[in-house]
Amino acid sequence: MVSREQIAQAAALIRSGRVVAFPTETVYGLGANALDPAAINRIYAIKERPKTSPLIVHVSSVNMAKSLVSHWPESADLLARAFWPGPLTLVLPKNDRIPVELTAGLTTVGLRMPAHPVALALIEESGLPIAAPSANRFTQLSPTTAQHVADGLGDAVDLILDAGPAEVGIESTVLSLTGSQPVLLRPGMVSREAIEAYLGPILLLDQAGVAHASPGLHVKHYSPRTPLYLLSQGQALPKSGTGIYLYWSNPHDAAKSQAMPAEPEKYAAILYDTLHQADLCGYDWIAVEAPPSTSAWAGILDRLERASIR
Ligand code: AMP
Ligand code: MG
Repeated sequence: MVSREQIAQAAALIRSGRVVAFPTETVYGLGANALDPAAINRIYAIKERPKTSPLIVHVSSVNMAKSLVSHWPESADLLARAFWPGPLTLVLPKNDRIPVELTAGLTTVGLRMPAHPVALALIEESGLPIAAPSANRFTQLSPTTAQHVADGLGDAVDLILDAGPAEVGIESTVLSLTGSQPVLLRPGMVSREAIEAYLGPILLLDQAGVAHASPGLHVKHYSPRTPLYLLSQGQALPKSGTGIYLYWSNPHDAAKSQAMPAEPEKYAAILYDTLHQADLCGYDWIAVEAPPSTSAWAGILDRLERASIR
């Protein structure tokens, strides 16, 4: 539980340029004043994140989002009405209020209204848009509990607001609205199909070409320390050492197997915590049964591919 006093304390820290870890519905975020270059640099330093990877800005209203962009297209209005607050980030042309430190030099900015009462209260109380990547070190597993944040960052953050486990469990869907056609930069739990119901056909990153490549989508990302193998149907387990097999349809005869939910929303919600826990068990490997290749699972498949050895 997060009290009014804690929110006031966190908002005061944000206003004075400090960094606060706070819950969102996707993962825990490492937040700072999105309009303050020094505060933004503090986030990069704590995360040891390369300056080439832009941050997402969290807002508490559509009006706040509009105040940060040079153009708010009709498509943004449609999607904000349908999916905000929620796990969908919209990339739009930024205006001069957004410092280039935040966008890694790009002229565009990623914006999202989170569906978590604590996140919204923090933005409103501080009266500022809040830049927030996940509250972990670069390339490590994202945190879905306050304990994950404390384990990963320790004393590096000024305050951690603890509101229990994140409900969505993986990072937001990222959609670019800066070109002639919308481009899905990162899949997530707001699926391609759900977006297409409002906008009609959108492009996937590999169809859009390099001009749209999203900086910061590193191949190796979201990884546990233990080597992770993503196994498609019939692929063999690692030969040496002991490990665990995470399955959603069929356990493995030859390995310790742990059941994962067969519904994507439930699977995503526990994925990172399951990997954090497996990491603590000292296994030589984690093997994961590949999820179905449908759009509802695309965000989960993306994170597993980035986490895996290949
Ligand atoms: P996260 O690490 O979950 O905060 O997500 C940030 C990611 O969103 C970045 O690594 C980029 O892949 C993407 N992103 C954020 N802002 C932009 C932008 N202006 N243009 C393209 N992609 C962006
Ligand atoms: Mg991250």
